Amino acid sequence: MTNLETTAVHSGHLIDPSTGAVTPPIHLSTTFERAADGSYPSGYDYTRSDNPNRAALEACLTALEGGTAAAAFSSGSIAMMTLLQALSPGDHVIVPGDMYFGIQRVMREIFIPWGLDISFIDMTSLAELEKTLKPNTRLVIVESPSNPQIRITDIAAVVQLAKSVGALVAVDNTIPTPVLQRPFSLGADFVVHATTKYLGGHSDVLGGILVAREESDLFAHVQTIQHIGGAVPSPFDCWLLLRGIQTLPYRVRAQSDHALQIAQFLNSHPAVERVLHPGLKTHPGHEIAVKQMDGFGGLFSVLVKGNAEAAMAVAAKVKLFIRATSFGGTHSLIEHRASIEGPHTSTPPNLLRISVGLEHPDDLIADLDQAL
Ligand SMILES: *Cc1c(COP(=O)(O)O)cnc(C)c1O
Repeated sequence: MTNLETTAVHSGHLIDPSTGAVTPPIHLSTTFERAADGSYPSGYDYTRSDNPNRAALEACLTALEGGTAAAAFSSGSIAMMTLLQALSPGDHVIVPGDMYFGIQRVMREIFIPWGLDISFIDMTSLAELEKTLKPNTRLVIVESPSNPQIRITDIAAVVQLAKSVGALVAVDNTIPTPVLQRPFSLGADFVVHATTKYLGGHSDVLGGILVAREESDLFAHVQTIQHIGGAVPSPFDCWLLLRGIQTLPYRVRAQSDHALQIAQFLNSHPAVERVLHPGLKTHPGHEIAVKQMDGFGGLFSVLVKGNAEAAMAVAAKVKLFIRATSFGGTHSLIEHRASIEGPHTSTPPNLLRISVGLEHPDDLIADLDQAL
């Protein structure tokens, strides 16, 4: 198999046969010509169904994750929503209580009223998962590391339990990316990404993608919803994503290494209560993370000593970190999560989430030191 760095640069990057352009053209045409006999010789007919830039992005993610097919969407949220929509009312779904807050909202406000039976559990507890599985459980969703509490779930163990009732497993791989975690090698059926984060990598494109390990009726239904609904990324968005992905392995490894250095610094700082980073030996998921990941990622959280005001005060004093939501870009970001998640949040009030960018780690450490 080709190494990941090579796949990231080459996959989906075909030399344009009509011009020899090394950088792929952006195909804005919404419609494609039919031959005299009515066939579509290019394989494309209308851009909602398929587009050359989108096909290239889907091929690239399929290769990076080691799947068989992918469906790209206009956001990470709609990628996950499409998977849920491909299920049927009455199906049972098990999801982690600590996961990206927007996806939890989608479940509570759209899919529970629509008829899915959704159980929110502590996915790090295999005993709780085993107790919650039912004969009609169709899907188990894992987010590991989770956002923002950075909990680690044993993906292979979840897969084994889910299989016992015939349920499928979808892993939100946005935080680790395929550079640090390969859910298909652990037995998962689907991988979901907010491409908005590390895959785009520069905080300038919104997108999502669902990758399938194997062809299935469920994935075919996902593709039908994609084709007839049209919640797809624009050709330019796909082009930007393929551009960003070329440097993904190098960015993510640097961000992951620097995040560990910063976490170790914070872990011994007197103004810090606790650092939530799976690379620290004191983290409850450390051993599983070592087993199933090739690094711990560029996103982690810190509980500062004191209350919400104390955490806000630290975020107020940083100079290099930017106070903003999201993660995975070149700029380091810091965010008080509880206040953006609102009144239903289970995030501790003194938690700050840190996305490590590509600045020198010494400068980031100095900035946090002066702020604390
Ligand atoms: C951001 C995020 C999403 C949602 O992606 P959008 O592109 O913002 O809709 C889903 N899962 C995780 C883990 C995320 O961080």
